[in-house]
Amino acid sequence: MRKKIVAGNWKMNLNYDEVTSLVDEILRLHSSDNNVEVILSPPFIYLDKVVRSCANHDHVFIASQNCSEYNNGAYTGEISASMLNSIGVNYIIIGHSERRSIFNESNENLNLKITQALQNNLKIIFCCGENIDQRESGEYLQVIKKQLEETILCLDQKSLSKIVIAYEPIWAIGTGKTASSVQAQEIHFFIRSLISDKFGTEISNNTSILYGGSCKPTNSKELFSQSDIDGGLIGGASLKSSDFTAIINSF
Ligand code: PEP
Repeated sequence: MRKKIVAGNWKMNLNYDEVTSLVDEILRLHSSDNNVEVILSPPFIYLDKVVRSCANHDHVFIASQNCSEYNNGAYTGEISASMLNSIGVNYIIIGHSERRSIFNESNENLNLKITQALQNNLKIIFCCGENIDQRESGEYLQVIKKQLEETILCLDQKSLSKIVIAYEPIWAIGTGKTASSVQAQEIHFFIRSLISDKFGTEISNNTSILYGGSCKPTNSKELFSQSDIDGGLIGGASLKSSDFTAIINSF
């Protein structure tokens, strides 16, 4: 049975005191009763602190927002997957549209990061999604197929089991525009079919596929009720403990 997951991507937000309060409030408000895996993804500098704060909370896991494509050595300013593993990080977000567009990360860069994560026993939240032009021209399924075929669909079965997929339409990220539950379900079903074609139904049924893009307490219940939507990758709404925990509780 695949996992239900709600992940909060804090991006480049919050100072140390704000992180302290946000983690404390989430842990206070969150109950593990509904069996949802919660993932918190703070900026690198706070990872160690958040790992320690969540150490006694079984349902809470920690993700970094990025990692280096290199193993170790003379790469000033980079953070390796092995460093992340050594402080107790569980996941790495790879392929977020902001990394692809602002930092020009290609599928080749993403594949190197995927390799680093897997070699260092880290799971991956792998993001994909179309932009507004691709949506409006009707080519969005082809775009997503290509994004996945050139990256995670090249992996072997064992590696694929370490991947959570996040479908994030770029036109919905941080814009307040959410994909409708019907639009999101169409893509989630399509992604699951691509996995099934390559790896079989057992693996595809066990792969969690999250929705991301202006997900909030007012739309999360409807989105999460779709048969192929297994939770969310939450940006803006993850910075407010009451909104984030309401999303977790909307299953
Ligand atoms: C994101 O950036 O992953 C995201 C989903 O952002 P938001 O929820 O703010 O649209």
